Amino acid sequence: MIMKGKRGIVLGIANKKSIAYGIAKACKEQGAELAITYLNERFERKLKPIADELECGERFYPCDVSKPQEIKALKESLEKDFGKIDFLVHSIAFAPKEGLSGHFVDIPKEAFNVAMEISVYSFIELAQVLKPIMNQDASLLTLSYYGGVKYIPSYNLMGVAKAALEMSVKYMAEDLGRDGIRVNAISAGPIKTLAASGIDDFSFMLKWNAVNSPLRRNVTIQDVGNSGMYLLSDLSRSVTGEIHYVDSGFNIMGMPAIEFDENGKTEIAWKDC
Ligand code: NAP
Repeated sequence: MIMKGKRGIVLGIANKKSIAYGIAKACKEQGAELAITYLNERFERKLKPIADELECGERFYPCDVSKPQEIKALKESLEKDFGKIDFLVHSIAFAPKEGLSGHFVDIPKEAFNVAMEISVYSFIELAQVLKPIMNQDASLLTLSYYGGVKYIPSYNLMGVAKAALEMSVKYMAEDLGRDGIRVNAISAGPIKTLAASGIDDFSFMLKWNAVNSPLRRNVTIQDVGNSGMYLLSDLSRSVTGEIHYVDSGFNIMGMPAIEFDENGKTEIAWKDC
């Protein structure tokens, strides 16, 4: 039981397809005690069965990260129910629709600010507010995507948000490392989730990644869950400031892959995408 004795909070479960659910489940299976959050009353009812399955008990709190008072209330609740925490999972992102299609240069300022606030600043703010209740060897984890490093069609505004998030991970790792607290990100390959359905041509992205990754397949929330659990556990106690790819190796490719037919002739692997 790798996570026995660890207590942590997971933000960003929308349903059983969420990456956060995959991470929470992997941690629970390894003995962690969990608290989870929901966005508002509408989601409270929807998420209650998941909170029960993860044996969160009363540790099932509202938290819309755009509301600073809800982050403060989250700290109070965690302190009351847990005392101190050992890990935090930030699996939250949002960009208005106009930021996820069309031309990047046309993005309105309001959309840009909203995406940055929800998808980037919330991770920094959670660390700021919850730091007094973090144990000395606590581990913080957020979720990124390759579109924060290289151009990906339609990922537009979220790409810029992920670039800022990845750099925040490094600056936070240095600051919090002084107190023994670690900060890492997983850059996950594409997975069909609620958030992903907001991205134009997402199904093409899925096919492209499967065909052009060294492992020739997409990743699952179980894959990301297990890697996330490692980064939250003491197995990774000297790992911080990392952007860890869980993407079937897609990020190492410099050109689209080719396949060979029975005569040894090359074929373009992506012709059926
Ligand atoms: P998801 O299941 O839709 O999770 C996104 C979560 O963000 C939802 O639980 C959503 O809550 C929450 N959220 C949005 N605005 C919020 C706010 N103001 N306050 C609190 N929570 C808020 O999708 P996911 O794919 O698992 O996304 C999780 C993370 O993984 C995101 O950072 C995403 O960018 C990243 N990621 C995803 C992929 C992928 O292909 N799916 C790949 C790499 C990285 P509600 O649903 O209740 O609004």
